[in-house]
Amino acid sequence: MEKLEKFAAMGLSENILKALEAKGFEEPSQIQEQTIPLLLNGDSDLVGQAQTGTGKTAAFGIPIIERLDEKSKQIGALILTPTRELALQVADEINSLKGDKKLKVLPVYGGQGIELQIKHLKKGGIHIIVGTPGRIIDHLERGTLKLDNLKFMILDEADEMLNMGFIEDVEKILSQTSENRRVLLFSATMPQEIMRIAKNYMKDHKVIKIQKKAVTTDLTEQIYFEVSERDKFEALCRILDLEVDFYGIIFCRTKHDVDTTTTRLIDRGYDAEAIHGDITQMQREKVLTRFKNKKLTILVATDVAARGIDVNNLTHVINYSLPQDPEAYVHRIGRTGRAGREGTAITFVTPDEYRKLMFIKRVAKTDIKKQQVPEINEVIEAKKDRIRNQISDIMEKGISKGCREFARDLLLSGEDQGQNLEDLIASVLQFALDDELEEKSYAQIRQVKSKKNEKTRLFIGLGKKEKINPKKLVDLICSETRIPSKAINDVAVFDKFSFMTVSADDANTIIDAFRRKKGKNHIHIERAKELGK
Ligand code: ADP
Ligand code: MG
Repeated sequence: MEKLEKFAAMGLSENILKALEAKGFEEPSQIQEQTIPLLLNGDSDLVGQAQTGTGKTAAFGIPIIERLDEKSKQIGALILTPTRELALQVADEINSLKGDKKLKVLPVYGGQGIELQIKHLKKGGIHIIVGTPGRIIDHLERGTLKLDNLKFMILDEADEMLNMGFIEDVEKILSQTSENRRVLLFSATMPQEIMRIAKNYMKDHKVIKIQKKAVTTDLTEQIYFEVSERDKFEALCRILDLEVDFYGIIFCRTKHDVDTTTTRLIDRGYDAEAIHGDITQMQREKVLTRFKNKKLTILVATDVAARGIDVNNLTHVINYSLPQDPEAYVHRIGRTGRAGREGTAITFVTPDEYRKLMFIKRVAKTDIKKQQVPEINEVIEAKKDRIRNQISDIMEKGISKGCREFARDLLLSGEDQGQNLEDLIASVLQFALDDELEEKSYAQIRQVKSKKNEKTRLFIGLGKKEKINPKKLVDLICSETRIPSKAINDVAVFDKFSFMTVSADDANTIIDAFRRKKGKNHIHIERAKELGK
């Protein structure tokens, strides 16, 4: 558990810590670090502002889970979100954070049949409701939802709710909740209107604002390579060989990836070191000292392990695995292009990750350009150039006595044996370089087949028997993913199953989204056949 040290120090229960570990959270984000302790104790209201992707959901989700009583028969928390997608996402995040605690979370949003929601609400036993404002008002007006005993009222993504014109609805809901509930407002930005809500509906409230990280500097060139997973290592070696003064960090997702990549680099003759959570403090310091002094120029790291490193004059940052979210991307690449020096951030993307990269690009508001992995002959020419320069340098600075005498010997005995000069120099080079200049020492990189335009037919284990029609099916898929309905084509519904055509990329997203569902929410979805061109 030592990884979760900071979370544990906040006084979180063993149950939550276990859930955090399962989710792979290691350290609280800034907004979490400041809000969780505040919400675990006392009863002040709160306004929390932090950029998108900084973990605001867990910032309020964790304390709510800790503080609600699973034995209570009343709804303890209402979370308002601007869209049903967000409602479902927040409900998901809370369910994955609650561990073994028996808290029931119900998403309540427009577009889903109201009768079903009423049934769930009547049955009771619900502790947390995540809903969109319109539908919540609908239930309040019908008397099917009571908020008298609410302990927490959360306005999530408040600026979005304002943008979408929900503010009046939100105020109406706020006015119907009991006096002593805590109001928590989370938002990426804080327009005037939002501050007014805070003033009108909150008692003594705390404001926690996390400064926006400087977005990427113009001095960082950002590029990406499309490579398949198995070619990433080869692509990495080509970059390392091409870039003379490489001084950089190679980011991997997991400790295991860090270890494997480092070992492979060392096996191929590079001086590389790894840092991640399982490296001892002593080893870590040793490695970092070498790295800071540029005795070591290739560092392989996880995001978390790299967090504390105060080196920012790197020539390169390599995203060997795609960062988890836009914030991590900005954080990673912020280590190059500082202090007037130019830097390059290179991201490897597999065809399946293309959509995620575009998301990062959009949210981080940066320009990431596609480039081809350098060709083998390009890399070899670059190496030769470097050797030529080094030879000229040596000649300029003066050749050592030992080498000069040995050269004379070699020339003389060569002459005696009738060798020519070309053979002699070539042999000396081969002795020094082994097969470094041979094409065969590089593996081929396969052209990735871009899946962007490929179509996939999906089989869905739901049909007319389940009262499904094409529209309902599309709505269901759209509400669970962020895929727009127009991206779904040729829907065919049969008695027990259905089919639809989507892009290969969307197919992955859909299969992933439903794979995690358990129990009666589980729907069997698989590829029917590939329709690739
Ligand atoms: P926000 O609401 O601020 O935009 P989210 O709550 O949606 O951000 O979180 C963004 C992503 O970051 C989610 O995938 C979430 O699981 C993940 N995340 C949140 N907190 C942490 C953490 N402490 N460590 C690692 N990942 C985290
Ligand atoms: Mg959010």
